[in-house]
Amino acid sequence: MSRPDSTTTIAAIATPQGAGGIGILRLSGPDALPLALRLLRNPDNLSFLPNQSVFHLIVNQETDEVIDEAIVTYYRGPHSFTGEDVVEIACHGSPVVLAEVLRLLIAAGAVAAQAGEFSMRAFLNQRIDLTQAEAINDLIHAQTRFQARVAARQVRGEVSRQLQPIKEGLIELIVHFESTVEFVEDDLDPLNLSLHLARMDEYAKRLERLSSSYRLGRLIRTGVRLALIGLPNVGKSSIFNALLGFDRAIVTHVPGTTRDTLSEGLSIEGIPLTLVDTAGIRETEDVVERIGVERTKSAIADADLIVAVVDSQSRLSPEETSLFEQFPIDLFVINKCDLPDAMPAEALRPLSVDAPVVRASALTGDGLAELREAIHRHLVAGVGAGIEDAIITNERHYAALEQALASLRQARQDLAAGFTEEIALTHLHQALRSLGIITGETLIGDIINQIFSTFCIGK
Ligand code: GDP
Repeated sequence: MSRPDSTTTIAAIATPQGAGGIGILRLSGPDALPLALRLLRNPDNLSFLPNQSVFHLIVNQETDEVIDEAIVTYYRGPHSFTGEDVVEIACHGSPVVLAEVLRLLIAAGAVAAQAGEFSMRAFLNQRIDLTQAEAINDLIHAQTRFQARVAARQVRGEVSRQLQPIKEGLIELIVHFESTVEFVEDDLDPLNLSLHLARMDEYAKRLERLSSSYRLGRLIRTGVRLALIGLPNVGKSSIFNALLGFDRAIVTHVPGTTRDTLSEGLSIEGIPLTLVDTAGIRETEDVVERIGVERTKSAIADADLIVAVVDSQSRLSPEETSLFEQFPIDLFVINKCDLPDAMPAEALRPLSVDAPVVRASALTGDGLAELREAIHRHLVAGVGAGIEDAIITNERHYAALEQALASLRQARQDLAAGFTEEIALTHLHQALRSLGIITGETLIGDIINQIFSTFCIGK
């Protein structure tokens, strides 16, 4: 998107396409109010107070035709989302009405807003930083409650709040080193190396913690693919349906019923999961089933988590063993535990030393809660962040954090190795720039101001 021209007033329909109870148009820019008035009856006699919603008739002033009834709200800049004058017109949610109101606004001089332009204006007017703008987008597109919760925290500035003290600390270090380099004759405090190194370690630790939360953040954002594998008739489709909570896959006692891979979304503890039910892998002459088997193999290759299902009634067959040996199994389910049990958990051990074994019955529902729990435990194992911690979900933020960390570590290493502060400064500046990239600001002006604010008056 080109940089918005703040002299223009933009307009757009802010609610999704399609019919609904209410549909909202939004205007932002210096002429938001005069443009909105062009759609109201007797505009000369109207006075608008900021932050008040008032009922109005929306009319085509040329024909005097009433288009709709609406609630109009005026937000006076800078106390608005974009920081500019904003007007929101809440009409009935008819696509025809909304399109007509938008057409009239544009005919009156408004410019059709580009994608994301309201948020871009909010950012340029420093109403929000980049992480907040991005989080608004995440919140709108959240598919699980947990995704929405994490995004909502970021909308409120969680990421920036974590970074702010580190950025301030880095600025202080930079100021100190710059002063040492530039004004040695001024007898500034001698560089206390170990103190500075300790501070850098502390900042690196905090950045590492934030950066490592991306493992959980990525799971939350993109979700994981879980493939159920096993021989025909062990109950994969039944487990698939039981986890979903509804019958999606066809279940019969005839081996080879699931000929294709089926996938369906669900969420476990807020982590979005695509559950893939694979066709049982077996040697077969049936052409359709054989295609299913091929698809199974590629579905398993694509999966982030492989759950092997076995039948409690029988012992492991050589065919089963050879199937499980082909893939890294993350979790075993011994299904049909409502029936007489012939499958000891130890029999599965040689196939995967670490994979937990859960006993379940897709028929009775026994063990399903344990299965969900085991899946969740596996997903968050070694993640290093809890759901209440600040979580990085955005790859751009993660990449910039890693860059900042690399620069900070380099600065520390150079200082510890006895290089001059000038060399460390280059890396510290780079670390700060990388953090600034996350929030979208440039801090050069701030650094200069701070350097001079540490001098004596008159200097
Ligand atoms: P798949 O071929 O591995 O997908 O197996 P299905 O889910 O189609 O199930 C095969 C047969 O086992 C069906 O007759 C199911 O009703 C039966 N079955 C599946 N799970 C259970 C279970 O937990 N207990 C019992 N008793 N039967 C089950």
